[in-house]
Amino acid sequence: MTEAGIAVSDFRRLVLLGAGGPGFWSNLEAFGFYSDDPVDHYARHLTRRLLHDFLGDPPSLLLYPGGAAAPSLTRLGELAGWGSPSPVFVGIHPDYGPWFAYRAAFLIDLDLPVDEVAPRPHPCDVCLDKPCLSACPVGAVRWPGPSDIDTCARSRIEDGSPCADRCLARLACPVGAEHRYSLAQIRYHYLHSLPTIRSYYATQDK
Ligand code: SF4
Ligand code: SF4
Repeated sequence: MTEAGIAVSDFRRLVLLGAGGPGFWSNLEAFGFYSDDPVDHYARHLTRRLLHDFLGDPPSLLLYPGGAAAPSLTRLGELAGWGSPSPVFVGIHPDYGPWFAYRAAFLIDLDLPVDEVAPRPHPCDVCLDKPCLSACPVGAVRWPGPSDIDTCARSRIEDGSPCADRCLARLACPVGAEHRYSLAQIRYHYLHSLPTIRSYYATQDK
């Protein structure tokens, strides 16, 4: 039993779903933007379809998004061998670079085959020029880290910030550049985070 009261032993597998590249967003545009959080809404819809249409509706428990617990997706992704923390405040994948995301995680009582992912070098360790470092206009990106999330966040809410709706450092990363999200998706995610950042600093700076 976990701290969140989940009987993990009732399930045989933990499934992590991720999406790399711009396909998730194109499919979301075709599906439609519903609810206050259309991305999570669509991820839950896909998870339900996967369970029902392809896996025969076995006993399952959604953890994320909006499920019974909030696991560390970054840690799960590392354990799965998919992604590692990067200096640009998102995970980095050896093929998709910083253009992928974990979309759902659930427990399932089904004997699914377990993915075996061979270890690969961290992309940032083998990135010779590290263009993300010089692309950040406020010097918040560092490797080896940690990068400076406070400097980044404060600069993003300044009037006229070039980072209000995008991260110039992330855009400069050469890994997986062919999988880069559309500008519409990039703007959606970055603009979505601004009100939370503003309200956080409004409280902190009182
Ligand atoms: S530019 Fe290089 S160091 Fe920077 S995030 Fe991409 S791979 Fe890592
Ligand atoms: S959003 Fe802007 S300030 Fe923040 S890390 Fe990216 S480039 Fe630097």
